Amino acid sequence: MKDKKKPYKIDSASKNIMGVIQDHLTKHGKIKGNNKRETLILLGACIHHTQNSKGKLKPTVWNPDGRTCKCRMCKYEWGGEILTKDKMKKEIEETILPFVNQYKYLAVASNAGAEAVKYGSELGSMLMVFPNNYNKIAKVVKKKESVKKKKSSGGGDKYNSSLGGWRRH
Ligand SMILES: [Zn+2]
Repeated sequence: MKDKKKPYKIDSASKNIMGVIQDHLTKHGKIKGNNKRETLILLGACIHHTQNSKGKLKPTVWNPDGRTCKCRMCKYEWGGEILTKDKMKKEIEETILPFVNQYKYLAVASNAGAEAVKYGSELGSMLMVFPNNYNKIAKVVKKKESVKKKKSSGGGDKYNSSLGGWRRH
């Protein structure tokens, strides 16, 4: 890479995530940071949308099989199905949370330092409130979908496509 781009910090994303992501795209539209760690952080920060010159948001997601969503910038895939709050809580408790708990315990026990402990602690707190935050978004999506269904009988499927498969099956 010729000229190095501004180093990416997690804090800077909260101001203009999309701008930061767009500054770190390869010519093929894939996310790439100045180094491996930055690339990982940017991949985690991807919000699966870009902005055109007029500031209009555009999804970077497509549905290869009509069910899963795939983002062309971060290359991640996820299901279109919306889970209930309880199911989401269970998923987190059964998958990622045990590792975060292990990390927090070991970070303190091994004297890894305040930053390492803070990181684990914040991640743990974020995961604990994730099912609630997820549910808030899910409710808005479901409400909009039912309004859309009432309004149009066939045709304009713009809403669903812009949500990249956030629909109930
Ligand atoms: Zn993405």
